[in-house]
Amino acid sequence: MGKTCCQECEVLVTVGDRQRIAEQTGREDFWEHKAPDNPAYLDQDDDPNWLKWAFRPDGTRPVLKRHSSGDCGFLGPEGCVLSLEIRPIVCRLFPYTYTERGIDGVSDACPKEVIPPGSTILQVLDMRREDADRWHAQLYAELRTGTSCDENRAYLRSA
Ligand code: SF4
Repeated sequence: MGKTCCQECEVLVTVGDRQRIAEQTGREDFWEHKAPDNPAYLDQDDDPNWLKWAFRPDGTRPVLKRHSSGDCGFLGPEGCVLSLEIRPIVCRLFPYTYTERGIDGVSDACPKEVIPPGSTILQVLDMRREDADRWHAQLYAELRTGTSCDENRAYLRSA
């Protein structure tokens, strides 16, 4: 089977994500500022505020730490060890695709083997559109007002 998003994605964590996860796990060491390994994360022409809000001037952004295998630090034998409402918002939204304007599609990146004939990945994951819309609004509110990287906001204010 191909790798899943939990084994190869670079997961952005907002300030809110970091607070929620820290409260549940009692840990603070699960994230780091890091430049993307995959340059595709910099291709945000259709979502210009994403770059402004997610990245620091030095090109890094706050992401979950991963093992050398690429696996997310919160990936356990049975899947994600975080409860749904505590997971980083970008994880909750996957496989929906979106910009600041709203949800605009569904990614085809999930391994085809996990989708039974006649089903969709949204049905397999039991994803409800109303949840996704709520999380999308939460994500951009946290990016816009809480900021994912306070240093970047300070830089932009002084620029
Ligand atoms: S936090 Fe959970 S859902 Fe998100 S990448 Fe890690 S293991 Fe997967």
